Amino acid sequence: MSKNLLTPELTARLVDLYARMEVAYDRVAGELAFSCAGCPDNCCDSFFLHHTVLEWSYLWLGLSGLGSDHQARIRRRAEQYLAGAATAMARQQRPQIMCPLNEEGLCALYSHRLMICRMHGVPSAFTLPDGRRQEFPGCFRCQELTAGRENTPEVDRTELYRELAELERELLTISGRRGPRVKMTIAEMILAGAPK
Ligand code: SF4
Ligand code: SF4
Repeated sequence: MSKNLLTPELTARLVDLYARMEVAYDRVAGELAFSCAGCPDNCCDSFFLHHTVLEWSYLWLGLSGLGSDHQARIRRRAEQYLAGAATAMARQQRPQIMCPLNEEGLCALYSHRLMICRMHGVPSAFTLPDGRRQEFPGCFRCQELTAGRENTPEVDRTELYRELAELERELLTISGRRGPRVKMTIAEMILAGAPK
């Protein structure tokens, strides 16, 4: 099993932060009577880059707990994902390929999925340090629900992002890890192994 940079204390704080993200998400979803049930789409084929050693390490805490055959199947799908993504990008297209962790429509590492996997769907927003506000209207199904609605509820990601950034800062300080900023797909995180 790969050694993991996350300390038990940082892990507990990240788990707590993820739990609060889910509460914030569920509150908005509940107000909108929104759920993914019966959706013809599956957002796990959306192309996202992830930016923290913290989430990469936590993903690997989950991956390390899977059996070796299961990990090997996931690695094969990650390789296929990267090959497909490279082909799409060479054609100037945004890749739309199922995440290598998705198995028959479900996340094989649901409890270890990354922040964006927990936020995607409902309307949300965050305020950048310079005061600018970025808004996300939610997925196409959610936008159908909110069309024409006044005072649409939304998840405010600002404090959640700030806490994630603080945990990342602490992890980098504790581990002494240096290097370029993380900018990776989940497939790349899988194939690179746990961060060292
Ligand atoms: S987030 Fe929206 S588009 Fe994605 S699976 Fe759920 S309902 Fe469908
Ligand atoms: S980590 Fe899980 S929830 Fe996130 S995109 Fe992959 S399969 Fe979907």
